[in-house]
Amino acid sequence: MCGIIGYIGKEHPKEILLEGLKNLEYRGYDSSGMAFKKGKEIQIVKCVGKIAFLEEKLQNEKLIDCNIGIAHTRWATHGEPSEKNAHPHQVGKITLVHNGIIENAAPLKKELEKEGVKFQSSTDTEVMAALINKYYKKDMIGAINKAIKEVKGSYALAILNEDEDKIYAVRCQSPLIIGVEKNGYYVTSDIGAILSHTNQYVLLGENEVVELTKDGYSITKNNKPITRKVETSTLSTEDSSLHGYEHYMLKEIMEEPILVDNFIKKYINNLDALPDLKKYHDIHIVGCGSAYYAGMIGKYLFEEDGLRVDIDVASEYRYRNIIYNDKTLVILISQSGETADTIAAMRKAIEHKVDTLAIVNVDGSTIARDCTYKVLIEAGREIAVATTKAFIQQVLVLSLLSYKINKDDTYLEDLIHLPQQLKVLLDKSGYYKKLADAIYKQEDVFFIGRKVDYAISMEGSLKLKEVSYIHSDSYQAGELKHGTISLVNEGTIVFGIITDDEIKDKTISNLEEVISRGAVPIYVGIDDYGYENQILVPRVNKKLQPILVVPTLQMIAYYVAYKRGCDIDKPRNLAKSVTVE
Ligand code: GLU
Repeated sequence: MCGIIGYIGKEHPKEILLEGLKNLEYRGYDSSGMAFKKGKEIQIVKCVGKIAFLEEKLQNEKLIDCNIGIAHTRWATHGEPSEKNAHPHQVGKITLVHNGIIENAAPLKKELEKEGVKFQSSTDTEVMAALINKYYKKDMIGAINKAIKEVKGSYALAILNEDEDKIYAVRCQSPLIIGVEKNGYYVTSDIGAILSHTNQYVLLGENEVVELTKDGYSITKNNKPITRKVETSTLSTEDSSLHGYEHYMLKEIMEEPILVDNFIKKYINNLDALPDLKKYHDIHIVGCGSAYYAGMIGKYLFEEDGLRVDIDVASEYRYRNIIYNDKTLVILISQSGETADTIAAMRKAIEHKVDTLAIVNVDGSTIARDCTYKVLIEAGREIAVATTKAFIQQVLVLSLLSYKINKDDTYLEDLIHLPQQLKVLLDKSGYYKKLADAIYKQEDVFFIGRKVDYAISMEGSLKLKEVSYIHSDSYQAGELKHGTISLVNEGTIVFGIITDDEIKDKTISNLEEVISRGAVPIYVGIDDYGYENQILVPRVNKKLQPILVVPTLQMIAYYVAYKRGCDIDKPRNLAKSVTVE
């Protein structure tokens, strides 16, 4: 997680770095800091909390006149969020910012302490700075190469060395790209941080060391030069504007109909561009968080198409004893394409020489690059930490893949009308607000559903808890009475997600069971049962139904969080792109 930006060029870096950090804040936001360099002088400004606090602090500082700087917004892994632990970290001549985890930081720290290093922070990052400082004599690239050989874990580093007017950078498992512009050069975790300056970027491979000066850059790996082409990002700065919405989460939910429409138009006559899953005996779907729940929807769809499907969260899959055969396909779902656990799951599949399919948003990301096949979900930039539009696009891809396996009659007809129906549902914000009024003071909320409705429940529940901090849980409707029903009380809100015709009566019975025990039901489904609180969605082809249901739950989560005064786009403790294990 965390965001890195560095700049070297003709301008003073402050504004560039500040704007960059604001764009990267979705990646971590417990503390932040900057370092500016002029000659031998390195000035560091850091503070705890949001970037806005750093901005305020910078206003009151007399900054050195310079054109080199690095900056960081942190999502702490080692050491509490504090000024002392905020980046940049400085040891001797070396000042650096880091994204990732140095897994063997503790033994390295002991060794370095014996050698006389006095550490100032509790971070793993400072160990990296100390190592590079230890090896630095006159050759920075040599020192970086020596240091990275000693560390285990993940890192993206932007590094200043007191002796040179340069920025060095290196990455392994954590993302970092080089930005190229006529007035200067950048290193950053995400192109979005520099889009207002340039859309030209260069990808950096694992353990390639880049040296940036104000006039150019060069890349080496093990001291051998590397050439890489300059790529052009198709993202625009428009993607990071709020367009009059109060929060990115709402803006991004509202974008869903148009994104779904664009995607349908692109693929409806071009299904050949999507991989054919029929040729595989086993499908493994792997993801984390919402991507996992999107995958769960995919599992139910593919099973109905007659495929054998296994699903797991990436952090488990990577360590499980998985049985592969030569007709296994592993589907990796990740918004950023940089989720550390999902990358590890992908590497495991690649090691076993089976085909892999990336369903990701960010082209050029590790998962997009390294899988056998990729389908880009084309959701545009998603800034709110809680995913909404990317989830819907992931489900849309899975639904199209399912249609390609099993072409049933009503699908295409329903697909065409889907964006309009979704738009109508999203326009009922007054109703979602009213439901939010009934929910926002609750301490516990439950969601129940069966089969695909269970997967929808899981996502609805996750969305609610991540943005509103209300404890919420989801259960297979038949499972509730095997324990959890003891938590149902007078007034407990229970969402019943009921869209599957074959088993809807069963779930209705389960909803009635909790009503008999005092629960207040919120029914979400396609048939009107006359419940006082109900969200009715149009009945569409089964493969498309979740695309109409999930957005209504996203809206409720949004309005509940709003009523509770939560920091909706940046919920506590979370970060968007989870690049640590
Ligand atoms: N492990 C480092 C720390 O805790 C970096 C975390 C990050 O990626 O923000 O400071």
